[in-house]
Amino acid sequence: MNISIIGSGYVGLVSGACFADLGNKVICIDNDEAKIKKLKSGSIPIYEPGLKELVKRNMKEGRLTFSSKIKEGVKKCEVIFIAVGTPSKDNGDADLTFVEHVSREIAISMPAYRLIVEKSTVPVNTGEWVEQTIRIFNKRNIKFDVASNPEFLREGSAIEDFMHPDRIVIGVKSKKARDILIELYKPLRIPVVVTDIKSAEIIKHASNSFLATKISFINAVADICDKVGADIIEVAKGMGLDRRIGKEFLNAGAGFGGSCFPKDLSAFIRIADKVGCDFGILKEVQKVNDYQKRLVVKKIEDLLWNLSKKTIGVLGLSFKPNTDDIRQSPSLEIISTLQKEGSKIKAYDPEAMNKARKILRQDVEFCKDAYSVARDSDCLVILTEWNEFKELDFKKIKKLMKQPVIVDSRNIYGPTEIKKLGFRYAGIGRR
Ligand code: NAD
Repeated sequence: MNISIIGSGYVGLVSGACFADLGNKVICIDNDEAKIKKLKSGSIPIYEPGLKELVKRNMKEGRLTFSSKIKEGVKKCEVIFIAVGTPSKDNGDADLTFVEHVSREIAISMPAYRLIVEKSTVPVNTGEWVEQTIRIFNKRNIKFDVASNPEFLREGSAIEDFMHPDRIVIGVKSKKARDILIELYKPLRIPVVVTDIKSAEIIKHASNSFLATKISFINAVADICDKVGADIIEVAKGMGLDRRIGKEFLNAGAGFGGSCFPKDLSAFIRIADKVGCDFGILKEVQKVNDYQKRLVVKKIEDLLWNLSKKTIGVLGLSFKPNTDDIRQSPSLEIISTLQKEGSKIKAYDPEAMNKARKILRQDVEFCKDAYSVARDSDCLVILTEWNEFKELDFKKIKKLMKQPVIVDSRNIYGPTEIKKLGFRYAGIGRR
């Protein structure tokens, strides 16, 4: 099939490259001309394992091209995915300005039947708005369909997730739209849930909100473990082996971040409010998540007595490992609080330093590795569970530090072993 993907960010670029790898001809479009220029020259603007090779291979074989013109994609391709950002507004609503803009541009340029697919995460009823917008600006009355096909990939394992998802969700109104999307996803041989557009939109928001709830739930349990001296790792294991609960998303830590969970949770709460349903559980989920970040700062303070004039070594800036994405990363908020308390920050992340430099700019000393961070630090705080932080030489680290203090906000070390080496240690929900 000829497919165009509008919005070439984490979702658009990965989806485009994967669709191309499945044998389709794909045009990835973005209005960020610098990004498109980079992509055309073979350079990838984001870090995602395996993406560079995938893009390169499909460009070479002529299945993947890039453009900054929506018109070009709409003219050449029957299936058009919208994968632009849907960020949060100040009041928590999803900002759908980009989706509206793209819908209008598609309507103006459509030469013949087109299937327009929402891949961005959008509030329920967005499909109707997209359809209405296209109808208004499609002056020649050309036939079209709108469908919803929410994306469930995770940054850091995006290609694997796209190619081997648990399910594909398709929300459609017509048989034609259904048949096109089923055909497109056929090579993946994955169960497809075909439903109406509104239900598909809600499936995405409800799924992310549920996962966020699981994280806040285990974080709240970890707080009890902390207070009574139980071990959250053991508790989560005991819970997770129950298939009704499942092992995933039961890692207590510094809270969730990223460009999806916080914004999708807010958007879902707002939708519920607007239709007169008080989704109180989700408001608590947000509260627990905010508390987790304050908790990490408190744990550092408890071990150092005062934060002022202390040097805190931060390991990890991205919101999770294997990505350079720092959007809504707990790290950034924790760093900012520590700075307000008068601490000096040294930091290292394997992939997110360039992005972090642009935001944190002054006052953070960016280091070349974990050992440089440890040098002269009063406390080392692990904020992202990158694999390379799991195998550090702690004897060396102890010698480099001003004081041997570790706050392990992702519970990647065993407290007993670390304490045996002479460190003062705090994890989340374990001692
Ligand atoms: P992103 O910010 O990385 O990418 C969005 C891209 O859209 C940007 O490159 C931007 O320049 C482009 N864009 C904006 N307006 C445009 C326009 N008018 N014309 C062309 N391009 C335009 O965002 P993302 O992380 O890829 O997320 C995209 C959507 O997918 C969001 O709704 C998000 O919630 C959803 N989603 C994201 C993930 C994830 O892990 N990042 C997973 C599932 C779903």
